[in-house]
Amino acid sequence: MVTALQILFALLIIILIIVFVFQPRRIKSIGWPDNYQDFLNDYVAFYSGLDEEAKKRFEDKFQKFLSAVKITGANAEVEDIDCVLIGAASVIPVFFIPDWEYVNLREILLYPGNFNTDFDQEGKNRMISGMVGSGALQNVLIISKWDLRQGFINSKTNRNTAIHEFIHLIDKMDGTLDGVPELLLPRKLIAQWQQLIQTTMEQIRQGESDIDAYGGTSPVECFAVVSEYFFEQPGLFRSIHPELNEMLEQIFFRK
Ligand SMILES: [Zn+2]
Repeated sequence: MVTALQILFALLIIILIIVFVFQPRRIKSIGWPDNYQDFLNDYVAFYSGLDEEAKKRFEDKFQKFLSAVKITGANAEVEDIDCVLIGAASVIPVFFIPDWEYVNLREILLYPGNFNTDFDQEGKNRMISGMVGSGALQNVLIISKWDLRQGFINSKTNRNTAIHEFIHLIDKMDGTLDGVPELLLPRKLIAQWQQLIQTTMEQIRQGESDIDAYGGTSPVECFAVVSEYFFEQPGLFRSIHPELNEMLEQIFFRK
């Protein structure tokens, strides 16, 4: 005869199976430090300039990102500030885009400094400070710890390596890394955007622009470099590059 105790025991087993077997698999995360708001206020101008309600929305996106992505040190210690800055760089470009998820990213590798095309962390020709992986490193982003921190601590520049790499991920989300973020840019503006990028690259190459020379190397890099500038020095960018500013607002500020 089945007793009430046996029924309860069976129910308990069923609940445990549901909780541990059918629960969606979560990626283990190292999370974020308790004082992350202090770090954000001190080092992330985009965040510190928001009102309280917007800061809360930023924090929600920040926590969601850091819960879903693994950050691994590759000969570099992952410290609290590194997690905070990576989380901030992920949110800034997509802050105004509802429900954005970096579905093309599962892990971030933190390197101590620059590396070369063979991923060597020592020796010559180490010119790379960040990279969106492909092939065996698909869905992996590599970033130099030194450059990650410089991008935020040195707030007087137009450059921010971490934001640069997240722009590449946004660009790549439509299937092609080509300088055209088709998921965000209205279709009717694509030709105008491509023309504007070409004109901008030409000006950079001829030394007629304050945009970093790296932006002149390809449309992919031009999109990432002008976006860094747009987020790092918004007032200056708007006044010097009104046409680019208008297009980037169409891309990133779509409600
Ligand atoms: Zn790049």
